[in-house]
Amino acid sequence: MDNKFPGKDISDEDLKTKFPLAAKKNKNHFSSFKVAGVEFGKQLVTFVGPNMVESRDLILDVAKNVQKIGADFLRGGAFKPLTFPYRNSKYNETREDGIKWLLEAKNKYNIPIITEVMEEKFIPLVAEVADIIQIGSRNMQNYPFITACAKTNKPIMLKRHYGSSLRDWLGAAEYILIEGNQKVILCERGVSAPHTHRSTSRFLLDLQVIPAAKEVTHLPVIVDPSHATFWRPWVKPMALASVAAGADGVMLEVHPDPENAAVDPLQPIDYSEFDKLLPQMKNIYNNLK
Ligand code: PEP
Ligand code: MN
Repeated sequence: MDNKFPGKDISDEDLKTKFPLAAKKNKNHFSSFKVAGVEFGKQLVTFVGPNMVESRDLILDVAKNVQKIGADFLRGGAFKPLTFPYRNSKYNETREDGIKWLLEAKNKYNIPIITEVMEEKFIPLVAEVADIIQIGSRNMQNYPFITACAKTNKPIMLKRHYGSSLRDWLGAAEYILIEGNQKVILCERGVSAPHTHRSTSRFLLDLQVIPAAKEVTHLPVIVDPSHATFWRPWVKPMALASVAAGADGVMLEVHPDPENAAVDPLQPIDYSEFDKLLPQMKNIYNNLK
């Protein structure tokens, strides 16, 4: 690997000493593991659903529709890192109930699920139901917590903290790999928008981190353009751009009534938008193969 470019924050030495497990061993090294029958690296993998598991009716409706359209995984948070502590009947986590409804949706519509866990005491509950455990951006460097998640030996999606470098992100992945858990998926979800970009976005999708990460690690890299853009009209172009940049998968917020979503209503797309976007993303992915 050529790591002579001085702008990179990872050196050849780092690859050997700091990320021996996450580092690529040769140019074509890629971890093509399977989760619930879905093989990373062989197809564009999609993680689709609402931001929050708002209710039983919502998650069953989303599961049914996105499975029919062709989503690989159903996403949705029952345990949600909400930015503000003030709750009301709508803006509120559904917690254990939400996990129960996710399981019902998974069984009824035969779609595997990915969901976040935020507290160590809920790891056994989430690990029992989820096909992939999501570690949210805010917990990316909570090392005792990610170690505890890794010990379940469940596949883990590690979302990049919006203030972290690629080096920090891979360091966190190494904490999972060192536990013998090899099913780690990296998810770029936007970085804190620098001052110059504040007028366009809360976060800035770091498209460049896709080729940068894939240059040094064998782990699959996926992108969440919903959180990165925070704005519905930009989700589609950024999803397509992510695939063009080499992403192995895309996480998308999809809601039947986006404007009335309980959390982040500016970012979800609806069923018909997802239905149009999916073949377009697959087209780009398959053309790159
Ligand atoms: C999410 O995917 O629901 C989420 C909270 O994402 P992030 O941790 O990237 O903000
Ligand atoms: Mn969110």
